Amino acid sequence: MSRSAHPAGPRHADVLPEGHYAAPPTDLNALDSKVWAQTVTRDADGVVIVGGIDVKTLAEQHGTPAYILDEADFRARARAWRTAFGHDADVFYAGKAFLSRAVVRWLDEEGLNLDVCSGGELATALSAGMPAERIAFHGNNKSGDEIERAVAAGVGRIVLDSFQEIVRVAHIAQSLGKRQRVQIRVTVGVEAHTHEFIATAHEDQKFGIPLAGGQAAEAVRRALQLDGLELIGIHSHIGSQIFDMSGFEVAAHRVVGLLKDVRDEHGVELPEIDLGGGLGIAYTSDDDPREPHEIAKALTEIVTRECDAAKLRTPRISVEPGRAIVGPTAFTLYEVGTIKPLDGLRTYVSVDGGMSDNIRTALYDAEYSVALVSRTSEAEPMLARVVGKHCESGDIVVKDAFLPGDLAPGDLIAVPATGAYCRSMASNYNHVLRPPVVAVNDGESRVIVRRETEEDLLRLDVG
Ligand SMILES: *Cc1c(COP(=O)(O)O)cnc(C)c1O
Repeated sequence: MSRSAHPAGPRHADVLPEGHYAAPPTDLNALDSKVWAQTVTRDADGVVIVGGIDVKTLAEQHGTPAYILDEADFRARARAWRTAFGHDADVFYAGKAFLSRAVVRWLDEEGLNLDVCSGGELATALSAGMPAERIAFHGNNKSGDEIERAVAAGVGRIVLDSFQEIVRVAHIAQSLGKRQRVQIRVTVGVEAHTHEFIATAHEDQKFGIPLAGGQAAEAVRRALQLDGLELIGIHSHIGSQIFDMSGFEVAAHRVVGLLKDVRDEHGVELPEIDLGGGLGIAYTSDDDPREPHEIAKALTEIVTRECDAAKLRTPRISVEPGRAIVGPTAFTLYEVGTIKPLDGLRTYVSVDGGMSDNIRTALYDAEYSVALVSRTSEAEPMLARVVGKHCESGDIVVKDAFLPGDLAPGDLIAVPATGAYCRSMASNYNHVLRPPVVAVNDGESRVIVRRETEEDLLRLDVG
Protein backbone atom coordinates (compact mmCIF):
# COMPACT_ATOMS: atom_id res chain seq x y z
CA MET A 1 0.00 0.00 0.00
CA SER A 2 2.94 2.34 0.32
CA ARG A 3 3.10 5.08 -2.26
CA SER A 4 6.61 6.31 -1.67
CA ALA A 5 6.88 7.59 -5.24
CA HIS A 6 3.97 9.94 -4.66
CA PRO A 7 5.03 13.50 -5.50
CA ALA A 8 3.57 14.72 -2.23
CA GLY A 9 6.18 12.78 -0.25
CA PRO A 10 8.56 14.42 2.24
CA ARG A 11 10.63 17.30 0.99
CA HIS A 12 13.39 19.39 2.43
CA ALA A 13 12.50 22.26 4.68
CA ASP A 14 13.95 24.82 2.31
CA VAL A 15 11.68 23.53 -0.43
CA LEU A 16 8.29 24.68 0.76
CA PRO A 17 5.31 23.21 -1.03
CA GLU A 18 4.76 25.06 -4.28
CA GLY A 19 1.66 27.21 -4.70
CA HIS A 20 -0.33 29.26 -2.33
CA TYR A 21 0.92 27.80 0.92
CA ALA A 22 4.46 29.01 0.24
CA ALA A 23 3.86 31.69 2.89
CA PRO A 24 1.75 31.27 5.99
CA PRO A 25 -1.49 33.22 6.01
CA THR A 26 -1.36 36.39 8.08
CA ASP A 27 -4.16 35.34 10.42
CA LEU A 28 -4.66 31.64 11.12
CA ASN A 29 -7.82 32.38 13.11
CA ALA A 30 -9.58 34.05 10.19
CA LEU A 31 -12.28 32.10 8.39
CA ASP A 32 -12.47 33.00 4.71
CA SER A 33 -16.16 33.24 3.81
CA LYS A 34 -15.31 31.95 0.36
CA VAL A 35 -14.58 28.46 1.65
CA TRP A 36 -16.79 28.24 4.75
CA ALA A 37 -20.55 27.80 4.85
CA GLN A 38 -22.48 31.05 5.15
CA THR A 39 -23.37 30.94 8.85
CA VAL A 40 -19.87 30.00 10.04
CA THR A 41 -18.24 32.44 12.41
CA ARG A 42 -16.43 32.44 15.79
CA ASP A 43 -18.14 33.14 19.09
CA ALA A 44 -16.71 35.43 21.78
CA ASP A 45 -14.49 32.58 23.07
CA GLY A 46 -13.10 31.90 19.63
CA VAL A 47 -15.05 28.68 19.14
CA VAL A 48 -16.46 28.26 15.65
CA ILE A 49 -20.22 28.26 15.40
CA VAL A 50 -22.36 27.17 12.46
CA GLY A 51 -26.13 27.37 12.20
CA GLY A 52 -26.05 28.90 15.66
CA ILE A 53 -24.29 25.95 17.35
CA ASP A 54 -20.68 25.75 18.42
CA VAL A 55 -18.48 22.93 17.23
CA LYS A 56 -17.61 21.73 20.73
CA THR A 57 -21.28 21.08 21.40
CA LEU A 58 -21.63 19.40 18.01
CA ALA A 59 -18.64 17.16 18.74
CA GLU A 60 -20.08 16.24 22.14
CA GLN A 61 -23.52 15.48 20.76
CA HIS A 62 -22.56 13.71 17.56
CA GLY A 63 -18.94 12.63 17.92
CA THR A 64 -16.15 13.09 15.41
CA PRO A 65 -15.47 12.86 12.61
CA ALA A 66 -18.71 14.31 11.33
CA TYR A 67 -19.85 16.21 8.30
CA ILE A 68 -21.58 19.36 9.53
CA LEU A 69 -23.98 20.75 6.94
CA ASP A 70 -25.42 24.27 7.07
CA GLU A 71 -29.02 23.81 5.97
CA ALA A 72 -29.71 27.52 5.48
CA ASP A 73 -26.66 27.73 3.23
CA PHE A 74 -27.78 24.70 1.21
CA ARG A 75 -31.23 26.16 0.71
CA ALA A 76 -29.83 29.59 -0.15
CA ARG A 77 -27.53 28.15 -2.81
CA ALA A 78 -30.26 25.96 -4.28
CA ARG A 79 -32.59 28.97 -4.37
CA ALA A 80 -29.91 31.17 -5.93
CA TRP A 81 -29.53 28.70 -8.80
CA ARG A 82 -33.28 28.38 -9.19
CA THR A 83 -33.79 32.14 -9.21
CA ALA A 84 -30.86 32.79 -11.53
CA PHE A 85 -32.23 30.50 -14.22
CA GLY A 86 -35.86 31.57 -13.82
CA HIS A 87 -38.89 29.84 -15.24
CA ASP A 88 -37.57 29.28 -18.73
CA ALA A 89 -34.88 26.88 -17.55
CA ASP A 90 -34.51 23.94 -15.21
CA VAL A 91 -31.95 23.28 -12.51
CA PHE A 92 -31.25 19.63 -11.80
CA TYR A 93 -29.20 19.05 -8.66
CA ALA A 94 -26.66 16.26 -9.35
CA GLY A 95 -27.47 13.81 -6.59
CA LYS A 96 -24.16 12.01 -6.82
CA ALA A 97 -22.46 14.97 -5.10
CA PHE A 98 -24.41 14.16 -1.93
CA LEU A 99 -27.84 12.63 -1.63
CA SER A 100 -30.04 11.96 1.36
CA ARG A 101 -33.75 12.12 1.96
CA ALA A 102 -33.50 15.44 3.78
CA VAL A 103 -31.60 16.91 0.84
CA VAL A 104 -34.26 15.63 -1.58
CA ARG A 105 -36.96 17.35 0.47
CA TRP A 106 -35.03 20.63 0.57
CA LEU A 107 -34.57 20.50 -3.20
CA ASP A 108 -38.23 19.74 -3.72
CA GLU A 109 -39.22 22.66 -1.50
CA GLU A 110 -36.80 25.01 -3.27
CA GLY A 111 -38.14 24.04 -6.69
CA LEU A 112 -35.15 22.17 -8.06
CA ASN A 113 -35.15 18.97 -10.08
CA LEU A 114 -32.86 16.03 -9.42
CA ASP A 115 -30.35 13.94 -11.36
CA VAL A 116 -29.81 10.36 -10.30
CA CYS A 117 -27.41 7.84 -11.78
CA SER A 118 -28.20 4.54 -10.10
CA GLY A 119 -31.08 2.51 -8.75
CA GLY A 120 -29.98 3.45 -5.23
CA GLU A 121 -30.12 7.17 -5.94
CA LEU A 122 -33.48 6.71 -7.66
CA ALA A 123 -34.83 4.83 -4.64
CA THR A 124 -33.63 7.59 -2.30
CA ALA A 125 -35.24 10.29 -4.42
CA LEU A 126 -38.57 8.50 -4.72
CA SER A 127 -38.70 7.51 -1.07
CA ALA A 128 -38.31 11.16 -0.06
CA GLY A 129 -41.20 12.12 -2.29
CA MET A 130 -39.48 13.83 -5.22
CA PRO A 131 -42.07 13.78 -8.02
CA ALA A 132 -40.80 11.34 -10.65
CA GLU A 133 -41.37 13.77 -13.50
CA ARG A 134 -38.71 16.03 -11.93
CA ILE A 135 -36.08 13.27 -11.90
CA ALA A 136 -33.53 12.69 -14.68
CA PHE A 137 -31.82 9.32 -14.90
CA HIS A 138 -28.18 9.20 -16.02
CA GLY A 139 -25.47 6.61 -16.42
CA ASN A 140 -23.33 4.91 -19.03
CA ASN A 141 -24.36 1.40 -18.03
CA LYS A 142 -27.85 1.44 -16.58
CA SER A 143 -29.10 -2.06 -15.94
CA GLY A 144 -32.30 -3.37 -17.44
CA ASP A 145 -33.79 -3.42 -13.97
CA GLU A 146 -32.81 0.20 -13.31
CA ILE A 147 -34.29 1.32 -16.63
CA GLU A 148 -37.49 -0.56 -15.93
CA ARG A 149 -37.86 0.99 -12.49
CA ALA A 150 -37.18 4.47 -13.86
CA VAL A 151 -39.67 4.12 -16.72
CA ALA A 152 -42.30 2.53 -14.46
CA ALA A 153 -41.87 5.32 -11.91
CA GLY A 154 -42.37 7.87 -14.67
CA VAL A 155 -39.08 9.76 -14.51
CA GLY A 156 -39.09 13.01 -16.48
CA ARG A 157 -36.19 12.00 -18.64
CA ILE A 158 -33.68 9.28 -19.22
CA VAL A 159 -30.38 10.47 -20.64
CA LEU A 160 -29.36 7.92 -23.27
CA ASP A 161 -25.67 7.19 -23.32
CA SER A 162 -25.12 4.53 -26.03
CA PHE A 163 -26.64 3.01 -29.15
CA GLN A 164 -27.55 -0.12 -27.22
CA GLU A 165 -29.37 1.90 -24.63
CA ILE A 166 -31.48 3.68 -27.24
CA VAL A 167 -32.94 0.33 -28.23
CA ARG A 168 -33.13 -1.01 -24.68
CA VAL A 169 -35.02 1.95 -23.23
CA ALA A 170 -37.39 2.03 -26.23
CA HIS A 171 -38.09 -1.68 -25.79
CA ILE A 172 -38.69 -1.44 -22.04
CA ALA A 173 -40.92 1.63 -22.42
CA GLN A 174 -42.99 -0.09 -25.06
CA SER A 175 -43.36 -3.23 -23.01
CA LEU A 176 -44.68 -1.06 -20.18
CA GLY A 177 -47.04 0.69 -22.56
CA LYS A 178 -45.19 3.99 -22.18
CA ARG A 179 -43.43 6.57 -24.28
CA GLN A 180 -40.31 7.66 -22.37
CA ARG A 181 -38.97 11.19 -22.64
CA VAL A 182 -35.24 11.00 -23.40
CA GLN A 183 -32.23 13.13 -24.14
CA ILE A 184 -29.12 11.90 -25.92
CA ARG A 185 -25.83 12.60 -24.21
CA VAL A 186 -23.18 13.65 -26.67
CA THR A 187 -19.47 14.30 -26.34
CA VAL A 188 -18.48 17.54 -27.97
CA GLY A 189 -14.70 17.13 -28.04
CA VAL A 190 -14.17 19.45 -25.07
CA GLU A 191 -13.04 18.62 -21.58
CA ALA A 192 -12.93 21.35 -18.99
CA HIS A 193 -11.27 21.32 -15.61
CA THR A 194 -10.72 24.32 -13.41
CA HIS A 195 -9.06 27.13 -15.33
CA GLU A 196 -8.63 25.52 -18.68
CA PHE A 197 -10.36 23.39 -21.19
CA ILE A 198 -8.92 21.12 -23.79
CA ALA A 199 -10.64 21.04 -27.14
CA THR A 200 -9.12 17.94 -28.68
CA ALA A 201 -9.64 14.22 -28.56
CA HIS A 202 -11.99 14.09 -25.59
CA GLU A 203 -14.32 11.76 -27.31
CA ASP A 204 -11.90 9.24 -25.76
CA GLN A 205 -14.04 8.54 -22.66
CA LYS A 206 -16.80 6.24 -21.54
CA PHE A 207 -19.64 8.78 -21.45
CA GLY A 208 -21.81 9.92 -24.29
CA ILE A 209 -21.92 9.49 -28.04
CA PRO A 210 -19.39 11.50 -30.07
CA LEU A 211 -20.61 14.32 -32.28
CA ALA A 212 -17.56 13.59 -34.37
CA GLY A 213 -18.01 11.34 -37.36
CA GLY A 214 -21.77 11.79 -37.34
CA GLN A 215 -22.36 9.29 -34.54
CA ALA A 216 -24.60 11.57 -32.49
CA ALA A 217 -26.60 12.44 -35.61
CA GLU A 218 -27.07 8.72 -36.19
CA ALA A 219 -28.22 8.27 -32.58
CA VAL A 220 -30.83 11.00 -33.10
CA ARG A 221 -31.97 9.29 -36.32
CA ARG A 222 -32.51 6.01 -34.49
CA ALA A 223 -34.20 7.55 -31.44
CA LEU A 224 -36.65 9.47 -33.62
CA GLN A 225 -37.75 6.23 -35.26
CA LEU A 226 -38.63 4.36 -32.09
CA ASP A 227 -42.20 4.51 -30.80
CA GLY A 228 -41.16 3.96 -27.18
CA LEU A 229 -39.09 7.17 -27.11
CA GLU A 230 -39.90 10.86 -27.16
CA LEU A 231 -36.63 12.60 -27.95
CA ILE A 232 -36.72 15.97 -26.18
CA GLY A 233 -33.15 17.18 -26.44
CA ILE A 234 -29.40 16.88 -26.38
CA HIS A 235 -27.22 16.66 -23.29
CA SER A 236 -23.58 17.62 -22.80
CA HIS A 237 -21.48 17.58 -19.62
CA ILE A 238 -17.93 18.76 -20.14
CA GLY A 239 -16.09 18.35 -16.85
CA SER A 240 -15.82 19.39 -13.24
CA GLN A 241 -14.60 22.21 -11.01
CA ILE A 242 -14.82 24.62 -13.98
CA PHE A 243 -14.33 28.38 -13.58
CA ASP A 244 -13.81 29.37 -17.19
CA MET A 245 -16.96 29.60 -19.32
CA SER A 246 -15.18 29.14 -22.65
CA GLY A 247 -15.56 25.35 -22.53
CA PHE A 248 -19.34 25.79 -22.31
CA GLU A 249 -19.15 28.18 -25.22
CA VAL A 250 -17.54 25.57 -27.46
CA ALA A 251 -19.92 22.88 -26.18
CA ALA A 252 -23.02 25.00 -26.82
CA HIS A 253 -21.77 25.90 -30.28
CA ARG A 254 -21.33 22.25 -31.19
CA VAL A 255 -24.59 21.04 -29.61
CA VAL A 256 -26.55 23.77 -31.39
CA GLY A 257 -24.80 22.65 -34.58
CA LEU A 258 -26.34 19.23 -34.05
CA LEU A 259 -29.78 20.73 -33.33
CA LYS A 260 -29.51 22.58 -36.63
CA ASP A 261 -28.53 19.41 -38.51
CA VAL A 262 -31.47 17.61 -36.91
CA ARG A 263 -33.83 20.37 -38.00
CA ASP A 264 -32.45 20.32 -41.55
CA GLU A 265 -32.64 16.54 -41.83
CA HIS A 266 -35.85 15.73 -39.95
CA GLY A 267 -37.73 18.99 -39.80
CA VAL A 268 -37.73 18.64 -36.01
CA GLU A 269 -36.61 21.34 -33.58
CA LEU A 270 -35.65 19.54 -30.37
CA PRO A 271 -37.03 21.60 -27.48
CA GLU A 272 -34.33 21.13 -24.83
CA ILE A 273 -30.59 21.47 -24.33
CA ASP A 274 -28.82 20.37 -21.17
CA LEU A 275 -25.36 21.81 -20.53
CA GLY A 276 -24.54 19.60 -17.56
CA GLY A 277 -22.86 20.65 -14.35
CA GLY A 278 -19.27 21.05 -13.30
CA LEU A 279 -19.25 24.61 -11.99
CA GLY A 280 -16.37 25.18 -9.60
CA ILE A 281 -16.31 26.13 -5.93
CA ALA A 282 -13.64 27.59 -3.65
CA TYR A 283 -11.69 24.87 -1.86
CA THR A 284 -9.01 27.36 -0.87
CA SER A 285 -8.85 31.15 -0.83
CA ASP A 286 -7.20 31.08 -4.25
CA ASP A 287 -10.35 29.90 -6.03
CA ASP A 288 -12.82 32.48 -7.33
CA PRO A 289 -16.05 30.83 -8.39
CA ARG A 290 -18.75 32.73 -10.25
CA GLU A 291 -22.15 33.46 -8.83
CA PRO A 292 -25.13 31.50 -10.19
CA HIS A 293 -26.65 34.62 -11.77
CA GLU A 294 -23.44 35.27 -13.71
CA ILE A 295 -23.36 31.67 -14.88
CA ALA A 296 -27.04 31.75 -15.86
CA LYS A 297 -26.56 34.95 -17.80
CA ALA A 298 -23.49 33.66 -19.60
CA LEU A 299 -25.02 30.31 -20.53
CA THR A 300 -28.32 31.80 -21.65
CA GLU A 301 -26.52 34.35 -23.81
CA ILE A 302 -24.29 31.72 -25.36
CA VAL A 303 -27.19 29.41 -26.27
CA THR A 304 -29.39 32.25 -27.52
CA ARG A 305 -26.61 33.66 -29.68
CA GLU A 306 -25.82 30.27 -31.19
CA CYS A 307 -29.50 29.54 -31.87
CA ASP A 308 -30.09 32.94 -33.44
CA ALA A 309 -27.15 32.33 -35.74
CA ALA A 310 -28.59 28.94 -36.70
CA LYS A 311 -32.12 30.38 -37.02
CA LEU A 312 -33.43 28.00 -34.38
CA ARG A 313 -35.90 28.71 -31.64
CA THR A 314 -33.89 28.84 -28.41
CA PRO A 315 -34.50 25.54 -26.62
CA ARG A 316 -35.28 25.27 -22.94
CA ILE A 317 -31.96 25.15 -21.09
CA SER A 318 -31.18 22.92 -18.16
CA VAL A 319 -28.10 22.72 -15.97
CA GLU A 320 -26.97 20.18 -13.39
CA PRO A 321 -24.90 21.70 -10.59
CA GLY A 322 -23.91 19.30 -7.83
CA ARG A 323 -20.73 20.51 -6.20
CA ALA A 324 -21.65 24.18 -6.62
CA ILE A 325 -24.73 23.71 -4.44
CA VAL A 326 -23.68 21.28 -1.73
CA GLY A 327 -19.88 21.56 -1.73
CA PRO A 328 -19.49 24.78 0.27
CA THR A 329 -22.33 23.97 2.69
CA ALA A 330 -20.49 21.41 4.81
CA PHE A 331 -17.21 20.96 6.64
CA THR A 332 -15.71 17.87 8.19
CA LEU A 333 -15.13 18.15 11.91
CA TYR A 334 -12.21 16.08 13.19
CA GLU A 335 -10.50 15.61 16.50
CA VAL A 336 -6.74 15.93 16.48
CA GLY A 337 -4.90 12.81 17.61
CA THR A 338 -1.22 12.04 17.13
CA ILE A 339 1.01 14.98 16.22
CA LYS A 340 4.35 14.06 14.69
CA PRO A 341 6.85 16.83 13.94
CA LEU A 342 9.40 15.64 11.37
CA ASP A 343 12.51 17.75 11.78
CA GLY A 344 13.14 20.00 8.83
CA LEU A 345 10.14 18.63 6.97
CA ARG A 346 6.70 19.29 8.36
CA THR A 347 4.35 18.22 11.12
CA TYR A 348 2.01 15.33 10.50
CA VAL A 349 -1.32 15.94 12.22
CA SER A 350 -3.43 12.79 12.45
CA VAL A 351 -7.21 13.00 12.65
CA ASP A 352 -9.83 10.42 13.55
CA GLY A 353 -10.98 9.94 9.93
CA GLY A 354 -9.10 10.23 6.66
CA MET A 355 -9.31 8.83 3.15
CA SER A 356 -12.47 6.89 4.06
CA ASP A 357 -14.37 10.16 4.57
CA ASN A 358 -12.47 12.23 2.00
CA ILE A 359 -10.91 10.33 -0.88
CA ARG A 360 -10.60 13.40 -3.09
CA THR A 361 -7.11 14.35 -1.98
CA ALA A 362 -5.74 10.89 -2.70
CA LEU A 363 -7.82 10.41 -5.84
CA TYR A 364 -7.52 13.80 -7.54
CA ASP A 365 -4.72 15.54 -5.68
CA ALA A 366 -7.46 17.89 -4.50
CA GLU A 367 -6.55 20.92 -2.42
CA TYR A 368 -8.28 21.72 0.83
CA SER A 369 -7.75 24.16 3.64
CA VAL A 370 -8.09 23.50 7.36
CA ALA A 371 -8.57 25.51 10.53
CA LEU A 372 -8.40 25.05 14.28
CA VAL A 373 -12.04 25.51 15.29
CA SER A 374 -12.34 24.68 19.00
CA ARG A 375 -10.31 27.78 19.99
CA THR A 376 -8.20 30.52 18.54
CA SER A 377 -4.44 30.59 18.86
CA GLU A 378 -1.75 33.20 18.67
CA ALA A 379 1.03 30.62 18.29
CA GLU A 380 3.42 30.69 15.34
CA PRO A 381 2.17 28.93 12.21
CA MET A 382 3.48 25.43 11.65
CA LEU A 383 3.66 23.74 8.27
CA ALA A 384 1.35 20.76 8.61
CA ARG A 385 -0.06 17.86 6.67
CA VAL A 386 -3.39 16.56 7.88
CA VAL A 387 -3.50 12.78 7.58
CA GLY A 388 -5.99 10.10 8.49
CA LYS A 389 -5.85 6.92 10.54
CA HIS A 390 -5.79 4.44 7.68
CA CYS A 391 -3.08 1.91 6.86
CA GLU A 392 -1.98 3.74 3.74
CA SER A 393 0.69 6.39 3.38
CA GLY A 394 -1.39 8.21 0.74
CA ASP A 395 -4.08 8.72 3.39
CA ILE A 396 -3.86 12.51 3.24
CA VAL A 397 -6.75 14.89 3.86
CA VAL A 398 -4.95 18.23 3.47
CA LYS A 399 -1.58 18.08 1.77
CA ASP A 400 -0.10 21.40 2.79
CA ALA A 401 -1.56 23.70 5.37
CA PHE A 402 -0.50 25.97 8.17
CA LEU A 403 -1.92 25.27 11.61
CA PRO A 404 -1.04 26.94 14.91
CA GLY A 405 2.20 25.63 16.43
CA ASP A 406 0.49 24.91 19.77
CA LEU A 407 -1.97 22.46 18.23
CA ALA A 408 -2.59 19.60 20.67
CA PRO A 409 -4.37 16.26 20.80
CA GLY A 410 -8.05 16.82 21.56
CA ASP A 411 -8.26 20.07 19.59
CA LEU A 412 -10.98 20.16 16.96
CA ILE A 413 -10.00 21.06 13.44
CA ALA A 414 -12.29 21.37 10.44
CA VAL A 415 -11.82 21.00 6.70
CA PRO A 416 -14.26 23.25 4.81
CA ALA A 417 -15.98 22.64 1.47
CA THR A 418 -16.44 18.90 1.96
CA GLY A 419 -20.15 18.82 1.17
CA ALA A 420 -19.67 17.33 -2.30
CA TYR A 421 -18.11 13.98 -3.18
CA CYS A 422 -16.91 13.22 0.35
CA ARG A 423 -19.77 11.40 2.10
CA SER A 424 -20.99 10.15 -1.27
CA MET A 425 -17.57 8.61 -2.03
CA ALA A 426 -16.90 7.47 1.54
CA SER A 427 -15.71 3.93 2.12
CA ASN A 428 -15.27 1.46 4.94
CA TYR A 429 -11.56 1.02 4.35
CA ASN A 430 -9.97 -0.57 7.43
CA HIS A 431 -13.52 -1.09 8.68
CA VAL A 432 -13.55 2.54 9.73
CA LEU A 433 -17.14 3.64 10.25
CA ARG A 434 -18.52 6.24 7.90
CA PRO A 435 -19.28 9.55 9.67
CA PRO A 436 -22.74 11.02 10.09
CA VAL A 437 -24.06 14.03 8.25
CA VAL A 438 -25.42 16.50 10.76
CA ALA A 439 -27.60 19.34 9.50
CA VAL A 440 -27.52 22.53 11.56
CA ASN A 441 -30.02 25.34 11.36
CA ASP A 442 -31.21 28.06 13.72
CA GLY A 443 -29.48 26.71 16.78
CA GLU A 444 -30.56 23.12 16.24
CA SER A 445 -28.68 20.11 14.95
CA ARG A 446 -30.25 17.09 13.34
CA VAL A 447 -28.63 13.89 12.10
CA ILE A 448 -29.72 13.39 8.50
CA VAL A 449 -27.43 10.41 7.83
CA ARG A 450 -26.44 8.59 10.96
CA ARG A 451 -22.98 7.36 11.82
CA GLU A 452 -22.27 3.82 10.78
CA THR A 453 -21.91 1.33 13.61
CA GLU A 454 -19.98 -1.89 14.01
CA GLU A 455 -23.35 -3.65 13.94
CA ASP A 456 -23.90 -2.20 10.47
CA LEU A 457 -20.61 -3.73 9.35
CA LEU A 458 -21.31 -7.08 10.95
CA ARG A 459 -24.82 -7.21 9.53
CA LEU A 460 -23.39 -7.32 6.02
CA ASP A 461 -20.77 -9.90 6.99
CA VAL A 462 -22.99 -12.95 7.05
CA GLY A 463 -20.22 -15.42 7.84
C1 LIG B 1 -21.16 14.75 -12.17
C2 LIG B 1 -22.19 15.29 -13.06
C3 LIG B 1 -22.79 16.50 -12.76
C4 LIG B 1 -22.43 17.34 -11.56
O1 LIG B 1 -21.13 17.77 -11.58
P1 LIG B 1 -20.66 18.85 -10.48
O2 LIG B 1 -19.21 19.00 -10.76
O3 LIG B 1 -20.94 18.27 -9.14
O4 LIG B 1 -21.46 20.07 -10.73
C5 LIG B 1 -23.80 16.95 -13.60
N1 LIG B 1 -24.17 16.24 -14.68
C6 LIG B 1 -23.61 15.07 -15.01
C7 LIG B 1 -24.07 14.32 -16.18
C8 LIG B 1 -22.60 14.55 -14.21
O5 LIG B 1 -22.03 13.39 -14.55
